[in-house]
Amino acid sequence: MNEERAWVDEQWNNVQILYKVRSILYENRSEFQHTQIVDSYQYGRMLLLDGFVQTTEKDEFIYHEMMVHVPMLSHPNPEKVLIIGGGDGGILREVLRYGSVGGVTMVEIDSKVIDLCQEYLPMISAGAFNDKRTNLVIDDGAEFVKETKDQFDVIIVDSPDPIGPARVLFSKSFYLTLHDIMTNHGILARQTGSLHLQVDEQKEAYDLLTGIYSYTEPFVFAVPTYVGGFFSAMFSSDSINPLDIGISALEDRVVGNRLETKYYHPGIHVGAFHVPRFLKERLICQ
Ligand code: SAM
Repeated sequence: MNEERAWVDEQWNNVQILYKVRSILYENRSEFQHTQIVDSYQYGRMLLLDGFVQTTEKDEFIYHEMMVHVPMLSHPNPEKVLIIGGGDGGILREVLRYGSVGGVTMVEIDSKVIDLCQEYLPMISAGAFNDKRTNLVIDDGAEFVKETKDQFDVIIVDSPDPIGPARVLFSKSFYLTLHDIMTNHGILARQTGSLHLQVDEQKEAYDLLTGIYSYTEPFVFAVPTYVGGFFSAMFSSDSINPLDIGISALEDRVVGNRLETKYYHPGIHVGAFHVPRFLKERLICQ
């Protein structure tokens, strides 16, 4: 489909964001969600699910680098990784940059998203789906984790916000099951939305995760198309406190993995955990 339309919009409760587009490259409803791929003037090609921007050609690197390198570089030797969601392939691409990784299982509920992103946004997965270490599973992540016999060093939940099929990926039972399939030094990272437009997501995830893991810390970073101020994620582990990891140790691991990044660097990694005071108060005091 190549329909001319001036704008696509993202509707929040009290905020509407408009993106001027050259064209709508694809728009349809899959088995699970309304899916759009547009060519925008400002951010290049964009994937929207149920009307919300998921990733864009121009700023995808920020989210994918922070959601992968913060947990992966905090782990001493990540070998087995689980990705829940992540249909555009950006998280998978960054995980596969680690020589220590022997296998990545990626569980995506909607194969249509993978097909469309490979067709219209191939630069995001950049061949990651064809890597021999990739084990792609088309399933509901909440069901997969109940059945798998595998254990993982790093688990990254790259889901949309808690709407539609993603709702189950924000539940206590899901987090408890993730804990059961994690190795001793396991680390979980999951996105928890923007600090201003998805206020409840950080608190809900923090309260559930602190009841399951020894360490749970929020970290923040700025993604232009994830509107509403800083975007957030939660880092949870039973044995690794992210606040104990310093810049020099991270620099050694960056060099050891020969990582070249556009947003991530060890200083911004450490800084990401120095979150705004209002977020600390929101998580701890209320
Ligand atoms: N980076 C984006 C964000 O932070 O909102 C997420 C991008 S990625 C496209 C989100 C993926 O999660 C989609 O491909 C969607 O189909 C998938 N997804 C939603 N619910 C799921 C579930 N229950 N199990 C597995 N994948 C799911």
